[in-house]
Amino acid sequence: KAPIIAIVGRPNVGKSAIFNRLAERRIAIVHDEPGVTRDRISAPCKMTDHACEIIDTGGIGMELDDGFHDQVTIEADIAMSSADMILFVVDARAGLTPTDEALAQKLRRAKSPVFLILNKADHAEQELMAGDFARLGLGSGVAISAAHGRGFGELAELMDDTL
Ligand code: GDP
Ligand code: MG
Repeated sequence: KAPIIAIVGRPNVGKSAIFNRLAERRIAIVHDEPGVTRDRISAPCKMTDHACEIIDTGGIGMELDDGFHDQVTIEADIAMSSADMILFVVDARAGLTPTDEALAQKLRRAKSPVFLILNKADHAEQELMAGDFARLGLGSGVAISAAHGRGFGELAELMDDTL
């Protein structure tokens, strides 16, 4: 069975956008618009050399239809119990938020490796925010842009090194 890689993070950090790029298919919903049919939350990763399955945990939360913070916690719990690797996504432009810190605290206890992903680093200067995120205790992180595709080579390499 292919290893499972869970994409975790607070709403709006770009989990679905990252999922779409890794799957090379537009199968996750990027905007949570009412009436939009929900699509698959898992797909084979097309960017790594090793076979693996990616999970957009934001989609799980939507299906559980719980409160905002509970939802994020439930998603993290599912990721921690089922994933072989966790991509913990934060918004490099927004900076660190209390929800990021709460999630990081939880994820530091995960048995599987957790990688900090700084999304929305559309331009090199946006990586300067990375200093804030080092406080999470999950390393310096990998800066990417799901919108532009920046950093995905490095991300895929990191995933392959761990798989
Ligand atoms: P999710 O709630 O974590 O799944 O986040 P989404 O994937 O739905 O993205 C939330 C918003 O951020 C959307 O408006 C995306 O277009 C936008 N977004 C996602 N990735 C990037 C990125 O790398 N750069 C920028 N500028 N916007 C992004
Ligand atoms: Mg989403």
